[in-house]
Amino acid sequence: MTNQNINFDAEYDLVVIGGGGSGKSAALTGAQGGLSVAILEKMDKTGGSSVYAEGTAAFESSEQKARKTPPTPGTHYPTREEGFRRYTEYSHHRANPDVVRMQVNNTAETIEIMKSLGIVYTDVTIYAYDQPYELNTFHRPEGLGEHVQEVLLRACVNAGVDIFTSTPAKKILMRDGAVVGVQALDKDGNVMNVGCKALILATGGFGNNPDLVEKYSWLYRSARFTYQCVPTENTGDGLTMALEAGADTDNIGALMVIACARTKTLTSHVSGAGSQPVLWVNKTGRRFASEEVALSFADTGNTIAKQPEGVVYAIIDSDTVKHLIENGSDIGLGDFIEFHQKLIRLQTELDQDVAEGLAWKGDSIEALGKAIPGLDPAVFAATVAEYNDACDKGHDPLFFKQPRFLRPVRKGPFYAINMAPSVLVSCGGIRVNGDLQVTDKDYKPIPGLYAVGMEASGLYGDTYNLDCPGTANGFAHASGRVAARHAIKTIKPGS
Ligand SMILES: Cc1cc2nc3c(=O)[nH]c(=O)nc-3n(C[C@H](O)[C@H](O)[C@H](O)COP(=O)(O)OP(=O)(O)OC[C@H]3O[C@@H](n4cnc5c(N)ncnc54)[C@H](O)[C@@H]3O)c2cc1C
Repeated sequence: MTNQNINFDAEYDLVVIGGGGSGKSAALTGAQGGLSVAILEKMDKTGGSSVYAEGTAAFESSEQKARKTPPTPGTHYPTREEGFRRYTEYSHHRANPDVVRMQVNNTAETIEIMKSLGIVYTDVTIYAYDQPYELNTFHRPEGLGEHVQEVLLRACVNAGVDIFTSTPAKKILMRDGAVVGVQALDKDGNVMNVGCKALILATGGFGNNPDLVEKYSWLYRSARFTYQCVPTENTGDGLTMALEAGADTDNIGALMVIACARTKTLTSHVSGAGSQPVLWVNKTGRRFASEEVALSFADTGNTIAKQPEGVVYAIIDSDTVKHLIENGSDIGLGDFIEFHQKLIRLQTELDQDVAEGLAWKGDSIEALGKAIPGLDPAVFAATVAEYNDACDKGHDPLFFKQPRFLRPVRKGPFYAINMAPSVLVSCGGIRVNGDLQVTDKDYKPIPGLYAVGMEASGLYGDTYNLDCPGTANGFAHASGRVAARHAIKTIKPGS
């Protein structure tokens, strides 16, 4: 798109679209580097999905060095080289080495910058506490993502960044193949043309756009059946605008999906119970996986999203309810459900959900099978009998689930929890180089255009990488900064 004669309502050196983690890190770097900077944010406040992030990945950070060894016995803090290899291998070499190098070399600096802004890291560990493959990259800040976003917002304002909320960007303005600005709608819905020398797309990906999920993801069959467990508006606007401006995609379609009880939050104890490696059946009434996949939320998300209409029922009996309340969870889900956290609200939440028709209860397995909509009670009863037999023998011949997770479903009343695939974010789409410049079909950078955070491709294969927990947030901050530094060098050479 070429726009020869544009009257700009405002002009900046750098405009950042999206005020989440990547956008704010980019804006702060730009402003500190002497650029005039604006953030245009679609929602009525900044933060995006970054407010929900618990941990951020880094390699060879000062926090890792100070701690020397991680809390999980027999593990160590990974080197940058180990990180580089893990990203590359986990993605089956679909990752872009220039982007991976950017990640492992720049994430430690994020920790230093956050500390200089007053952020305190409580631990550096793994995500699931019981996941043997994870590297110890998960830096958990006090107050988690919400606090980090507040602190960054303050830093941006103090550095002189102009922030326009409720201002969705709609179109990139180009002249002679280079970016000259962006068109947005202001708070009142009026068109606003903002001129700039560099534009950073920090729009968080297309996770909340079922049309784009259906178009691009290998989990397209579930696109219409997902459940959005957090209120974000990441609808792929950056991708759409970049494609119009001549950008290309790269390895598009990986999603970060988590299992969440439909209509619930990730901290609900019903959702926490259903996310344990208990018996899961799909709408055919049969098991479909070793439920120990629950150890990795990303793999669980894939597993659930693959089921017909994304429907999965987690089946528990009253012994398991008692166990989860009194002894706590068998696996952790970050800070949403901590490892061995006692799910003290479980019985109350279950009773409420059953009353509201969101979960189902039966005094016998037959009664539960009849209560769950659309399930064949006879098939379901046979599944439970077969599963209980595996529990008794301590051997699961169908899926080889570890014996420690084989909890029988024997003592009534019995419950079915309605689990759904919840897309947290998409993992990349726009092809970038190691400086986060957006590239065209000929792999040439489009002058003045950058993509960062979840909008930029390069770290993933087909699945979010939980081997290096905190990857998305680590990338958001590092990529924002690196893009802004490149813009500074281009706009103010020699600075
Ligand atoms: C519940 C949850 C938990 C998570 N936990 C973790 C975790 O512990 N560790 C981790 O690494 N990752 C986690 N993530 C992933 C998280 O999304 C990334 O960590 C990262 O912070 C994303 O940053 P971002 O800047 O790319 O996107 P976001 O923070 O989502 O920011 C994108 C912003 O762009 C705005 N926007 C979109 N379109 C437009 C437009 N047209 N115009 C203007 N603004 C626009 C959005 O409103 C949003 O504010 C989690 C995600 C969720 C949803």
